[in-house]
Amino acid sequence: MASLPKTDTSDRYVYRFGGGVSDGGQGDKNLLGGKGANLDGMASIGLPVPPGFTISTAMCTRYYDEGGQFPQSLRDEVATGIAHIEGITGKSFGDEADPLLVSVRSGARTSMPGMMDTVLNLGLNDRTVEGLAQASGDARFAWDSYRRFIQMYADVVLELDHGAFEEALEIAKEDKGFHLDTDLTSEDLEALVDRYKALVEQQWGKPFPQDVHDQLWGAVGAVFGSWQSERAKVYRRLHDIPGSWGTAVNVQAMVFGNMGETSATGVAFTRDPSTGERAYYGEFLINAQGEDVVAGIRTPQYLTLAARERAGAKAASMQEAMPAVYDELAKVFDLLETHYRDMQDIEFTVQQGKLWMLQTRAGKRTAKAALKIAVDMANEGLITREEAIGRVDPAALDQLLHPTLDPKAPRDVIAKGLPASPGAASGKAVFDADSAERMAAAGEAVILVRVETSPEDIHGMHAARGILTARGGMTSHAAVVARGMGRPCVSGVGSLAIDARAKLFRVGGREVTAGDILTIDGATGEVMLGEVATVQPELAGDFGVLMEWADGVRRLKVRANAETPLDCRTARQFGAEGVGLCRTEHMFFDAGRITSVRQMILAEDEKGRRAALEKLLPEQRSDFAEIFEIMAGLPVTIRLLDPPLHEFLPHEEGEFAEVAAATGIDVEKLKRRAAELHEFNPMLGHRGCRLGVTYPEIYEIQARAIFEAAVAVANKTGDAPIPEVMVPLVATRRELELMKAVIDKAAEAVFAETGTRLEYLVGTMIELPRAALKAGEIAEVGAFFSFGTNDLTQTALGVSRDDAARFLGVYVEQGIYAKDPFVSLDIEGVGELIQLAAERGRKTRPDIKLGICGEHGGDPASIAFCEAIGLDYVSASPYRVPIARLAAAQAALKP
Ligand code: PEP
Ligand code: MG
Repeated sequence: MASLPKTDTSDRYVYRFGGGVSDGGQGDKNLLGGKGANLDGMASIGLPVPPGFTISTAMCTRYYDEGGQFPQSLRDEVATGIAHIEGITGKSFGDEADPLLVSVRSGARTSMPGMMDTVLNLGLNDRTVEGLAQASGDARFAWDSYRRFIQMYADVVLELDHGAFEEALEIAKEDKGFHLDTDLTSEDLEALVDRYKALVEQQWGKPFPQDVHDQLWGAVGAVFGSWQSERAKVYRRLHDIPGSWGTAVNVQAMVFGNMGETSATGVAFTRDPSTGERAYYGEFLINAQGEDVVAGIRTPQYLTLAARERAGAKAASMQEAMPAVYDELAKVFDLLETHYRDMQDIEFTVQQGKLWMLQTRAGKRTAKAALKIAVDMANEGLITREEAIGRVDPAALDQLLHPTLDPKAPRDVIAKGLPASPGAASGKAVFDADSAERMAAAGEAVILVRVETSPEDIHGMHAARGILTARGGMTSHAAVVARGMGRPCVSGVGSLAIDARAKLFRVGGREVTAGDILTIDGATGEVMLGEVATVQPELAGDFGVLMEWADGVRRLKVRANAETPLDCRTARQFGAEGVGLCRTEHMFFDAGRITSVRQMILAEDEKGRRAALEKLLPEQRSDFAEIFEIMAGLPVTIRLLDPPLHEFLPHEEGEFAEVAAATGIDVEKLKRRAAELHEFNPMLGHRGCRLGVTYPEIYEIQARAIFEAAVAVANKTGDAPIPEVMVPLVATRRELELMKAVIDKAAEAVFAETGTRLEYLVGTMIELPRAALKAGEIAEVGAFFSFGTNDLTQTALGVSRDDAARFLGVYVEQGIYAKDPFVSLDIEGVGELIQLAAERGRKTRPDIKLGICGEHGGDPASIAFCEAIGLDYVSASPYRVPIARLAAAQAALKP
């Protein structure tokens, strides 16, 4: 029997909060959005929250499904919501004597700072503005609120050209010779409102809406509409937020921070979001509305006395200017931290001495702060160690693992601003986001220089190595977004005179133009000309503590992909428990050796190849020995040669000449040979074990180098290495069988010659779909499998790993793959092949060692999958080893 269609009234979309009412019951973020859920949460623990209601995210989805229409039932529910606010405030919406004004704000499940729309002071019109003037006893305030409302509404809801409104405001000030908005009188503002209304009518073709209900529905529609704005889409893509989540809309009684000197508005963090230090941290502005703080139009004052003194600022801190409200606020901070058990980012308003809480959410923080806060909170007993492990985003550790400025390096400091997001970065100065994106795509390091950033700059901020702004505080858009992205940022460098059109800035009598190299230090706020040397990061302290906790809970081992002694040392420093992949062909990239490799590749017969290999053997042997020594008994997987020929064949005259000189074969002959070897599809060509099958002497001599090195190190240090010799690109059992025979023979020869016998393993990469399918047979020969997910992704998807960038972006945008499958494993497809191979391999050989060594070994989501299917280890590039350790711990803790 077909089910009846849902009627409008079967769904509830409006949830009230405040005044003892809490329809959301502690707030479900998925339904109410983050802001709505926490407003409800704050109201329910008795904090002063202006009453309001939330229209759920489910309505957003339905609104889009139904082509931008609201159901009738919603209108009834919203009327109930408005009545709720009216009941508590004692004011009526649209009342000409004492009107209720509301704010209308977006609120997705996770915060998307500055990405979506907000309308304040809604409910003002030509008549209610008079009522507001009467009731507040402040005509200037009433007219200022009305002009702000028209300006915001025209921009956000009517989508008119906001430049014209800003210009009208500037002209109004200029006419009077004023500098600040606050200098304008009530009469000036009333005249400005007339000008604004005329602008609306001119551009929109209709008068500014006077019906407060029309205003409200316009604003609600605009907030839902902003979910699909370009900038919101870009933000979602960068942060992996699904478009299907939708946003909620919060409608709330207005409170005013701009009602004179006992009123204020501010933003605060319960701990320092840059360092994690346990100290209240924030900014406020007296006699201002919330948007003024975030927009960076006026320079805010510090919240605490300590912060003001440290900065050497003159303007009074809130602790000094409003001590009673500050004390109340400090109590609220503690209450919220205990309630939400995390560092909170808070917005508040003081209206004529009364504190109101407008928002709380888990605060965005730098990786350094995340670590410190997690470790401190666990030590304080607020959260468990397991929770602390879960609190740090493994990918964000990247910020900490990269170099900072060498304190001893000479530097030419040209300016100083706020240390808005830590880390050091050097690059060419660029003055707009599009150029930043273009140059970064061409492989250039750039520093994006802006007067202030806006959400339209987000793609450029992402592409840049660092961000430098002349305006804006620590909570400005630039600062918040840069911290979230892990980009170093110096903001509020007031001394920079930026001329973005001319692509230059002047500071202290000097001029910096586009393309000049700049260095910024986001930890000190310094701006330097030229590139400054860097040093390696500090790995002790909170980092060391959290890593130790993580190591205590993880099951997966973490190894590194490393082929040079330097890589191996870095890897060990970062806690690698072995080498999971030593790509021997990469050992030949340096200039002295590549000629011998080319000689080997171009040789026409075994004799020629052996001659080249004999040159390489001693070098390989000493490299292997050094790696074995550094890894001191930890497992080391050495992969035999796997050179896609196009990466190694000579191309330029000089390269041919070098090979000719080394071999005595003439250049023309070498060129003919190279032409013969040319492949149309080198990734599927004569590479991997196909090279070993056709020219066994290559693998024989490499294996000899491995065993000679291992024996030498065993005899020298007494710490016998256990080499794991790995055969690449195997598709069939027979290939591995043939190669294993070559390797075993080389081992036996070395053991006989040296009189020393060692344990070793022979295994294979699983990087072709056929190998995954036939893993049961292959495991009869190989003692271990290492999943080469770069090639496995390439071959399973039929997508060239070298050419994918051209179209994969569109694939991800279209949702065909959730993420770039070369970065984050395609778990559904490639993952199934891995799982199947692991099962079949184990069935044949229950103790088979299983690992992964493709790029995915350093990707947290892929690591979670490796944990779920019970692999033994993941192997990642050295800098990603700590990320993998933490991700493996988080995966192990997942229920
Ligand atoms: C792989 O294919 O995943 C792998 C690790 O090998 P390479 O990247 O060298 O082909
Ligand atoms: Mg491979």
